[in-house]
Amino acid sequence: MDAESFVIPAPAVVSVPAVGGGRFPVRRIFCVGRNYAEHAREMGADPDRELPFFFCKPADALVTGGADMPYPAMTSNLHHEMELVAAIGRGGAAIAVADALAHVWGYAAGLDMTRRDLQNQAKKEGKPWDMGKGFDHSAPIGELVPAAKVDPTRGKIELRVNGAVRQTSDLSKLIWSVAETVAYLSGLVRLAPGDLIFTGTPEGGAAVVQGDLLEGVVEGAGTVRTRIV
Ligand code: MN
Repeated sequence: MDAESFVIPAPAVVSVPAVGGGRFPVRRIFCVGRNYAEHAREMGADPDRELPFFFCKPADALVTGGADMPYPAMTSNLHHEMELVAAIGRGGAAIAVADALAHVWGYAAGLDMTRRDLQNQAKKEGKPWDMGKGFDHSAPIGELVPAAKVDPTRGKIELRVNGAVRQTSDLSKLIWSVAETVAYLSGLVRLAPGDLIFTGTPEGGAAVVQGDLLEGVVEGAGTVRTRIV
């Protein structure tokens, strides 16, 4: 055997289908915390006083193609967070706000599913959020829409659970715009093609249970759908 061979089989590339064909290969998933004022307030924070902050999910937490999401272990308070997702097609570091949207390949509707009980306990104890946020199947996502067809500065963002509206807002209410978020994040890490950025959720995140059907839409950027099983 060749000395350069993998010692176990290499993991498959995680990817998200794109509208119009092809798949977008995913490298990393970054998520913005508290990026709509009303959601920040309902989480007990002051939306006017914070720079954007980020946490990550593993790429293989994605759920694509409208597949079911298994109710995760170790929680009794699984929350939905409906979000616009930006997909980085061209990498870079220290990207200027004015140049940032040119680095985005496309957009999708996504769900930052959260074990709120574990997240709240971690917050209280000053511990990392990873197990509240980055668990298996925690990131259902719809098809990517090419950036040229999307205006990420305005448009309705909405989530229905079993047909009833649970979250509704507008992208114009993002505290940090997509351009500002990409620029700021690129000052913390060098962004690379394949990176996804979940841009934050509006108010109204709440618990779901087995059997619930989640259907989200971001105006212009498509839909996301999953059933909790
Ligand atoms: Mn979120």
